[in-house]
Amino acid sequence: MHQTKYIFVTGGVTSSLGKGIIAASLAKLLQAKDYKVTIQKLDPYLNVDPGTLNPYEHGECYVTEDGAETDLDLGHYERFLDTPTSQANNVTTGLVYQSVINKERKGEYLGKTVQIIPHITDEIKERIQLLGETGEYDIVITEIGGTVGDIESLPYVESVRQLLWEMGHENAIVIHLTLLPYLPTSGELKTKPTQHSVKSLMQSGVTPDVLVCRTQYHVNDEIRNKLALFCNVQKEAIIESIDAETIYDVPGLMLEEGLDEVVLKKLKLPHYKKTNLDKWNQFLFKFKNPKNEITVGLIGKYVELHDAYKSIVESTIHAGAENEVKVIIKWIHSEDLEVENVSDILKDVHGVIVAPGFGTRGIEGKIKAVQFARENKIPFFGICLGMQMAVIEYARNVLGYKDANSTEMDKSTSHPVIDLMESQKEITNKGGTMRLGAWECKLKPDSIVSKAYASKNVMERHRHRYEFNNKYLDKLEKAGMHATGINPETKLVEIIEVPKHPWFVGVQYHPEYKSTVLNPHPLFIDFIKASLEYSLTNRKQ
Ligand code: GLN
Repeated sequence: MHQTKYIFVTGGVTSSLGKGIIAASLAKLLQAKDYKVTIQKLDPYLNVDPGTLNPYEHGECYVTEDGAETDLDLGHYERFLDTPTSQANNVTTGLVYQSVINKERKGEYLGKTVQIIPHITDEIKERIQLLGETGEYDIVITEIGGTVGDIESLPYVESVRQLLWEMGHENAIVIHLTLLPYLPTSGELKTKPTQHSVKSLMQSGVTPDVLVCRTQYHVNDEIRNKLALFCNVQKEAIIESIDAETIYDVPGLMLEEGLDEVVLKKLKLPHYKKTNLDKWNQFLFKFKNPKNEITVGLIGKYVELHDAYKSIVESTIHAGAENEVKVIIKWIHSEDLEVENVSDILKDVHGVIVAPGFGTRGIEGKIKAVQFARENKIPFFGICLGMQMAVIEYARNVLGYKDANSTEMDKSTSHPVIDLMESQKEITNKGGTMRLGAWECKLKPDSIVSKAYASKNVMERHRHRYEFNNKYLDKLEKAGMHATGINPETKLVEIIEVPKHPWFVGVQYHPEYKSTVLNPHPLFIDFIKASLEYSLTNRKQ
């Protein structure tokens, strides 16, 4: 019988150590040895999903093919592994409790007192094993959000303890990610915080099998011995994770440290294949040896927190490597564009991306940026709200509908060129009720997008409530803005282009969710190519 193996990744000392990147890098190495791997994230907050969270709280909300609104770490998993994740790959405390309480109401525990142990932990354990039970994976890596010792994490750590016991040591192991802080005054890396975090894990009955230590400096033998002794971890299972120039270096660094070897040994899995990271390394080489450099303006209202636009930034990195060009992001706050001179802010950019978003803040700045890019023939890429802004800008400045707007921003506009989708009109609950996940889109022949995709039909992921108002389609088409991507069932406009412009594309969906290292997204590749051409022609003048 096929036995799925489980790897749990916990974190200690501080948050933000990059558990997601370590999990994704390990998965990449195991995948490069031909193992089928998936990664799951357990988030210890009470929101059912991060869809209702402000990006300032938790960064970008990532959307899967099957329409789950998830943690941004799932984006890393997909970008590293080039395989889709699903609803089952992200579990939150909110989701777990909701499910247990629903069962209680249905009478499924009739007569029993419903408790954290065993009911909540059983629910967590079930959700951890769900991916393994599909039979699709040899290894499931489960990343436990938060830091050990947090009250919120306790039921998760307890579930891991039970599973380790039930599954046996060959089938389930724990990797603990910690920090070795460097004290400049004594010139030393310190192990005490790691000792304490391992102690706290052990108090919950869990002993780590592998320690991955984040550090600014190399971890010498003496420190490895000390960690092994105090933390009950074999010396060969002390893995250094030194600060990297880019997250894409981490799989290579983990390979050098032998993380995959240790893990396979502990899980008693054979090394039946040599690690093949050729394609990954080809990407890395191109990424690190660009032939040109361009600047792309990224206009959004959460730009103070770069994680709010994680997938967009990574997509420009993938597409940049493909074009052998270094893409510098110029972070532009849409509110600054409302008060300052747009031409001053955008004069040195070779491409403009107007980002997704919700609500009215910064809207007029985004519209000004679209106008500047359109009139100055700078490559323009509008994503979701960015596409909607492009439609509003065109309606206002080309069709002359001065108060054209989206009804999201102005309910009483006389030209609602963007309007609430029919299917959204009766919806009152905010959580999980947008148009989500992958939908089909039929591309018009000879458009920028059909050439870029080299396809007639695509599936792309969505997350929105408002849409292009088809009542204005004829007028906009006649004025030079074309709908070049349509949903075949609903006739919703998914893509607009301005053919008179060298590269002006707005998409109602989120192409950034589908760009991976091995398969950069075609529209990002084409947009970066157009921005490079723009930069080269402008330089010559
Ligand atoms: N606020 C817009 C809508 O709901 C755009 C959403 C987005 O950019 N993801 O339609």
